[in-house]
Amino acid sequence: MMDKTIFQKIIDKEMPSTVIYEDELCIAIEDIAPAAPIHILLISKTLISKISDSRKEHQYLLGHLLLKVGDISRQLGIEDSFNVIINNGKKAGMTVPHLHIHIMSGKKFSFTS
Ligand code: AMP
Repeated sequence: MMDKTIFQKIIDKEMPSTVIYEDELCIAIEDIAPAAPIHILLISKTLISKISDSRKEHQYLLGHLLLKVGDISRQLGIEDSFNVIINNGKKAGMTVPHLHIHIMSGKKFSFTS
């Protein structure tokens, strides 16, 4: 069996984290090494290694995650100013192979105008 990812350990409460939202499909935590003043990770509870591995059966989950991005942005009061990043694959800088969405606010990134 594959070793549990760090995020699976967080989901299973075997590792500590600062949880800001949780439901049956996902958990949102503060990033341990924030790349912006606000940096949240919204993690899928279903283990999909990366977004390019998702399939039709994940349609509801993926829609749910994006809706939660909006809800969490309102919860944090950043709904008018945040960036969403999904890294896909090691070469693209993905370090934890367990689908997660970065929600970041308070920093200007070079790819924005
Ligand atoms: P990625 O590079 O897209 O795979 O993002 C992984 C993110 O997980 C990085 O931003 C890390 O800082 C973050 N991270 C790694 N370990 C932990 C942890 N134990 N708690 C919270 N965030 C973590």
